[in-house]
Amino acid sequence: ISLDLQAQRRLAALLDHFGLAGDTPRSNWIAGESLGGEGERIALNDPVTGRELIAYHDAGAGLIDRAVASAAEAQLVWSGLTASERGRRMYAAAQAIIAQADALAELESLVAGKPISDCRGEVAKVREMFEYYAGWCDKQHGEVIPVPTSHLNFVRYVPFGVVGQITPWNAPLFTCGWQLAPALAAGNGVVLKPSELTPFSSVALAGLLEASGLPRGLVNIVNGLGATTGQALTGHDGISKLVFVGSPESGRVIAEAGARRLVPSVLELGGKSANIVFDDAKLDDAVGGAQAAIFGGAGQSCVAGSRLLVQREIFDRVVERLARAAALIPVGLPSGPSTRMGPLQNARQFERVTRMIEEAKAAGARVVSGGGRPQGLPEGADGYFVAPTVLVDVTPEMTIAREEVFGPVLVVMPFDDEQEALALANATRFGLAGAVWTQDPARAHRVAAQLRAGTVWINGYKTISVMSPFGGFRDSGYGRSSGLDGLREYSVAQSVWVETAARSSVAMGYGSG
Ligand code: NAD
Repeated sequence: ISLDLQAQRRLAALLDHFGLAGDTPRSNWIAGESLGGEGERIALNDPVTGRELIAYHDAGAGLIDRAVASAAEAQLVWSGLTASERGRRMYAAAQAIIAQADALAELESLVAGKPISDCRGEVAKVREMFEYYAGWCDKQHGEVIPVPTSHLNFVRYVPFGVVGQITPWNAPLFTCGWQLAPALAAGNGVVLKPSELTPFSSVALAGLLEASGLPRGLVNIVNGLGATTGQALTGHDGISKLVFVGSPESGRVIAEAGARRLVPSVLELGGKSANIVFDDAKLDDAVGGAQAAIFGGAGQSCVAGSRLLVQREIFDRVVERLARAAALIPVGLPSGPSTRMGPLQNARQFERVTRMIEEAKAAGARVVSGGGRPQGLPEGADGYFVAPTVLVDVTPEMTIAREEVFGPVLVVMPFDDEQEALALANATRFGLAGAVWTQDPARAHRVAAQLRAGTVWINGYKTISVMSPFGGFRDSGYGRSSGLDGLREYSVAQSVWVETAARSSVAMGYGSG
C-alpha cells in the first residue's frame, strides 16, 4: 500500500485511540470534551509525501469564548485545592503521559514529520516537565519583607487566572508541555492554541491530563489559523497573560495585541545561533557537536547552531570533516527506527529553505554538502526532504548568514582571533543561544560571558533542562521558560500588609508611604 494510505490509516487509528475521530476530526479540547471546529476547512499535507493527509475545521471565535469561560471556572476549582493535592495531580498527569508515550510519539511523528526516536525523546521531556513542576506546587513560598515592627508585610505569589498560550509546529507536544506545566503549577487555567499545521498532539495530551485527574475544563486546546483563532485568543478579555513560542514576526503582533489590553507577554522566538570553534578544540567533539546542533530536527529548532565560526588554522579540516559527516546522516522516513533526519514539516518551509539555499548560491556561497533533495528515498517520498547542507564562502552580509533558515543548512565562516569570533557571533538581531569549543578554560569562560545569548554552552550544544531558565535576548524574545524563572512568569507577586502596632497606624492617621 502507498505511503499516503499508510499514513492516513495510522493517523485515523491514532485519532480514534485518543477519542478525536469524527466526521471531521475533533480538533479542540474544551470544557472536558473533544469538539470539531466551526470555522473554515484546513487541510494538512503529509510531510513525507507532500499530499493531503487529513483536514479539520478552524475553531472559530465562539469556541474561544467557551474555552476561556471553561478555564476561568475550572481555575477556581484548581486554586481551591491544597497545594499538595495540586502537586499529586500533576505527578499523576506525568504518569499518564508515560502510559501513552508510544501513541503520543507516533501521533507527533506522523503529523510533524519528525523521526520517531526524536518524538519519543520529546514525550519523555514532557513527562519530566510535569514531574518537575509537580514538585513546585507546594514549594512556592512567599517572602517576609523586613519592614518596621509596626507592620508585618509578606508577599505571596498568586496565579494570573487564565493564560493564553500559542505554540509553533516544530515541536508541538514539547512546547505544549513546556508551557502547560508551569502555568498549572502556578495555579492558572489555560487556553492553548497549537500551530494550525500540527493540531492533534496537544489535544490528545489535554485529554490524557484530564483523565488522570486535572479538573475538567482547566486545560483547553483550540486549533485554527493565527489570523482567526489565534487573534480571537490574544484579543480575548478573559486572558490575563500571553505566552508565545514562534517567529519574531508573529511575536510582535501578539505582544501588540496584549499591550492594547495591558496584558503582559512572554515571547520565545527564533535564533541564528553561533557555534565558535577555536583551533585548540577537541575536533571530534566539535564536529559532532556542530552536526547535532544544526541537523537535529532537520534544523527546525529554535536553538539550531546555524552559524559555525571556525578559527582559520583548522577551517579547511573542519569543513572537510563536516561535509563528509553530513553526507552520512541517515535521512529517511520518520517512522524508520534508524532515521536521524526526516523531511521539513510543511510546503512553505520547504520553499523557504530551498529558496534561501538558491539565493545564497547566487550571492556567491559554495555548497560543500547537500544543497538539494537527498538521494535514495523510498518510492512515494516526494515530500519536503532537504539534504543536510553545508555552505562556505559566506560573508556576514549575506541573508543566509543573518536570517533564520529553520532548516538543515549550516554556514561555516572563518575567523582569526577571539575578538573577531565574538564580533561575528554577536552581529545578529537574535540572541537565543551560542557555544564555544576550546580546551582553554579561561578563554571558554571569557568568550561565553561575552556572547549575547540566553543560553550558552561550553564544549557542548543543545543540552537543556526543565530545571534551568531558557529564553532570548533581542529579537529572540523576552521572559523566561523552565526552572523557577519559568514558574514566576505565571505568577503575580501580591504584597500583604498587616498592622501589628498596639494602635493601628491607620487609626493614628499615619502612612509610611
Ligand atoms: P509562527 O510565528 O508562524 O507561528 C507560531 C504560532 O503563532 C502558530 O500557532 C500560529 O498560528 C500563531 N500565530 C501566527 N500569527 C498569529 C496572530 N496574528 N495572532 C495569534 N497567533 C498567531 O511560527 P512557526 O513558523 O510556527 O514556528 C517557527 C518559529 O518558532 C521559528 O522562528 C522558531 O525559531 C520559533 N521557535 C522558538 C522557540 C523558542 O523557544 N524560542 C521554540 C520553537 C520555535
